[in-house]
Amino acid sequence: MPAEGKRCKVIVVYHPDFAAQGYPALRERIAPAFEELRTRGLLDKEEVSLMEPRPAEEELAEEVHTEGHIQGVKRSGYYQVALLSAGSVILGAEEVASGKADAAFCFTGTAGHHASRDGFWGFCYLNDVAMALVRLRREGRGRRVAILDIDPHFGDGTRDILGEDPKVLHVNLHSGYVMRGSGGSNNLDLALFHDAGDAQFLHAVDRALEAVGRFRPELLFVVFGHDSHRDDYGAFELSDGVYREFALRVKRSFPSGVVYVLSGGARPHVARRAIGDVVEVLAATSP
Ligand SMILES: [Zn+2]
Repeated sequence: MPAEGKRCKVIVVYHPDFAAQGYPALRERIAPAFEELRTRGLLDKEEVSLMEPRPAEEELAEEVHTEGHIQGVKRSGYYQVALLSAGSVILGAEEVASGKADAAFCFTGTAGHHASRDGFWGFCYLNDVAMALVRLRREGRGRRVAILDIDPHFGDGTRDILGEDPKVLHVNLHSGYVMRGSGGSNNLDLALFHDAGDAQFLHAVDRALEAVGRFRPELLFVVFGHDSHRDDYGAFELSDGVYREFALRVKRSFPSGVVYVLSGGARPHVARRAIGDVVEVLAATSP
């Protein structure tokens, strides 16, 4: 490690139940991606700490969602793994917000960004980022937060819950399908063509990071969906190397205070490469 380099502290939050009990379309990638971190030696690095989450408290879900929503999630059979997924994001956010880590990568078994106050779809059950924000604010943290959602599906649930919050900047890179609640003074929606490639994506990332920089958040959540890869199920036609480049650009703008939240994506080979590259960038010595 170069003497002038700054050592980064990165938390990886993982629980085997994400692979065992997660939503079927999402869970096949979980164990291979985690194994990739081991194979690359990332979990042995001094800079990287592995932590296991506990389920989020139910009352955090009750603060974010309606009673009818929660009853519906219970009937879906994914309530417990959704609480554990939210617990993963809460743990990562607390470690980063308290300064114990520069960045976190939070695995999940269900996604969160399509879970609104009173509705859920698209493999999302509880809004993990919104629940983490409730928790942080109770502790006097997370007063000013940005959410950069690069899952190619529009983060309608997060917009529904946080879109009017003046202390939250919500930025979506999405495939042109803007749903309800896309307005609001702090919101920025960057629509790309359905078949957008790396160059268009990274151009939008630069615009997004400029906006986040102007907002000057205490904490940046990155809603990280790799369903944007050309081999995966969502829009965009991104290639293998783009997630490393994305993570590098985020790190150049925000060397600390970043919480990655795993979102859409199904293909194990895509997840291995994408998540491995992101954690590798986070754990590398900063220039
Ligand atoms: Zn998606």
